[in-house]
Amino acid sequence: MKIVTTIADLRRLTGDDVGFVPTMGAFHEGHLQLMRTARNNHESVVVSLFVNPTQFGKNEDFSRYPRNLTADAEMAEAQGVDIMFAPEVAEMYADSPTSIHVPEVSDRWEGAHRPGHFDGVATVVAKLFHIVRPHTAYFGRKDLQQCLVIRKMVRDLNIPVILSFEPTIRTENGLALSSRNAYLSPEERAIAPKIFETLTGIAERVTRESLTTEEMDRILSDGRIYLERSGFVPDYLEWVDFSTMAPLRNASEPGAIIFAGRLGTTRLIDNVILRSEFAF
Ligand code: AMP
Repeated sequence: MKIVTTIADLRRLTGDDVGFVPTMGAFHEGHLQLMRTARNNHESVVVSLFVNPTQFGKNEDFSRYPRNLTADAEMAEAQGVDIMFAPEVAEMYADSPTSIHVPEVSDRWEGAHRPGHFDGVATVVAKLFHIVRPHTAYFGRKDLQQCLVIRKMVRDLNIPVILSFEPTIRTENGLALSSRNAYLSPEERAIAPKIFETLTGIAERVTRESLTTEEMDRILSDGRIYLERSGFVPDYLEWVDFSTMAPLRNASEPGAIIFAGRLGTTRLIDNVILRSEFAF
């Protein structure tokens, strides 16, 4: 595997059939699974490792975000990745850079709780698409709203790339793998699986019973209270339409139960997709 830090070097090395996995590093099985899927489908695999400053808010964890290039490079190489693109911030951004805003789907949930976050994501992903020129780019469904923002951007701007959204990889007890799980204390780690327990509990009721709007409001509010009592500070727990992320109360539409909240100083997000056969 080659590690390159400049756009010019990357350009010299990439071919036509590139599978691309954009990441911020601190690899876990979620990242590695995306790399293996790309490896199975393409002549060459490019992984980018860039902790993108523009998608972090002022009081967020940009400076303490876990960084370990050596361990990450070893893990990526073991999955058969050909090239790791790991630019410095100065290689990616000039002064007063142009920014992309994807309307509507960016504005709710993560967008509301992390103002500017999706502009940072959309802009860096668009730049990476132009730099890497992949055939297909692979993303994880754990960041569901991010998938939908990128999908809309690619459609609206006619970016010539195929998108593949892959299932969330979890620990045995259901906790979605995340680089931020490294911040959790042992006590918090024992509590964190309650997110998935709550989401799947709600998802089962939504699919099994024909619930009224009032019953659904109640189930979501009970879920929120349960998580609060377990130690979380929820930002949201909602049932949303799969394409627009607008609140949903009709089980025949493709939807998802979404959660974000803090456990101690760590912010965690997760979702369970309903009727996933229609989802992407
Ligand atoms: P990140 O490094 O957190 O920006 O994540 C890079 C990519 O890996 C994104 O497309 C994420 O959605 C995806 N990803 C992160 N965690 C998981 C997971 N547990 N399962 C599947 N994909 C994931």
